[in-house]
Amino acid sequence: MKKIIVAIDGYSSCGKSTMAKALAKYAGYTYIDTGAMYRAVALYGISKKIITKDNIDEVRLRTELDNIHIGFIKSGEQQHTTLNGEDVESKIRTMEVADGASRVSTIGFVRKHLVALQQKMGEQKGIVMDGRDITTVVFPNAELKIFVTAAPETRAQRRFDELKEKGDNVIYEDILKQVIERDYRDSHRSESPLTQTADSMLLDNTNLNKEEQFELIKTWFNNAVKE
Ligand code: C5P
Repeated sequence: MKKIIVAIDGYSSCGKSTMAKALAKYAGYTYIDTGAMYRAVALYGISKKIITKDNIDEVRLRTELDNIHIGFIKSGEQQHTTLNGEDVESKIRTMEVADGASRVSTIGFVRKHLVALQQKMGEQKGIVMDGRDITTVVFPNAELKIFVTAAPETRAQRRFDELKEKGDNVIYEDILKQVIERDYRDSHRSESPLTQTADSMLLDNTNLNKEEQFELIKTWFNNAVKE
């Protein structure tokens, strides 16, 4: 069976990563969470005060980019993100870092830097990569492309449940507002806006459970490796 690249794009909190991880496990492929890479850059920027609530010091960020080493390690069954050797998985999942990541991802030189790293990770194929520009910019020739979406209210509720379970004190309306803002920023930015390519399979999971979704993508995957 040939090894392929599975490229998955979609809005925030639509269950992309859960689905991508499940597919990677099924296929015996490596899963790469590109959102975590933008989050790691944001975390670095916030910790060095390069990124503040209302400003990003782009000059400093550009000079410091080569000091930001992002990796992935296994932690039991989970995959964790590392920043300069430190496991930052929980630190990158806050609303502050999500906002920083969304802002930092609009900067051209940040995208160029991370896209080059991502393309290198896919050289040997056998990967499932998710993000916002994987089907359009990182791997436009991927053998299987999937675009995932769901209603904003459904995604906000999922994110709310996730954060509540972690013990975060969050308000549903704030999360819905952030989801809508991030959707707008992701799909209207000049650098690699989120769009569905004509050859992507559309997965709207508003009314699908995880099993139903997985059945669909398994079928798409098995067809793609056969071709
Ligand atoms: O997917 P996740 O929510 O972790 O992504 C964090 C942020 O990084 C998103 O708001 C999105 O703007 C950005 N991102 C991106 N391109 C990617 C992956 C994520 O612009 N390939």
